[in-house]
Amino acid sequence: DKIIIAIDGHSSCGKSTIAKDLAKKLSLIYIDTGAMYRAVTLFALSRGVINDGVINVDKLQDSLSEIVVEFKRNSSTGELDTWLNGENVEKAIRTLEVSNNVSAISALKFVRERLVKLQQEMGQSGGVVLDGRDIGTVVFPNADIKLFMTASPEVRAQRRFDEMQSKGEDVSFEDVLSNVQNRDHIDSTRAESPLRKADDALVLDNSFMNREEQFDWVLEKLSE
Ligand code: C5P
Repeated sequence: DKIIIAIDGHSSCGKSTIAKDLAKKLSLIYIDTGAMYRAVTLFALSRGVINDGVINVDKLQDSLSEIVVEFKRNSSTGELDTWLNGENVEKAIRTLEVSNNVSAISALKFVRERLVKLQQEMGQSGGVVLDGRDIGTVVFPNADIKLFMTASPEVRAQRRFDEMQSKGEDVSFEDVLSNVQNRDHIDSTRAESPLRKADDALVLDNSFMNREEQFDWVLEKLSE
């Protein structure tokens, strides 16, 4: 049977980095589930479903069937880009505006039901690595390997800040830190599948590890 790797953890602790490294090394398909919640949030923002942080839940529920989220291989980067209703939104879903609204959108039960189902369909035949908040607990509770990643909020905010700056985004460190802390809070206290470590997940705190060190750590665990 083909392998399923589940990676969960706090915001901005490098889940996608390790997921991409594993996908490359083990020839797996990487499914970025956070990108799917971000795409729904972008849709909501662009349709005026969110006003000053207040979600028009009925309106979102009514238009949910119009939302088509897909991943398509980018021929120049070789990576999978996120597409929303026929448009490449890989960059548009990473803004601070989307980050500031995504946790409220992803707390909605009907949004989760739809995306979880889609994620299960995408990963059902295995050969996949998924990252998110509920992969090892809800989406694929029978995953072959589960990782739960974390790092201190300051370390995570600094990494996200550096990444956004390198992409030319005009953000302040304080805004990024407060976004990371707010998302952690909403994600771990929501009623619907809150972020928590699966009982059988391996904990990886990478506060003091670089990319190579954490990759070696995971490969060693995989070989055990
Ligand atoms: O992984 P990323 O930080 O891009 O995820 C953005 C947001 O999407 C998270 O803060 C969380 O609110 C939500 N999310 C979720 N469940 C997942 C993946 C992401 O609720 N499986």
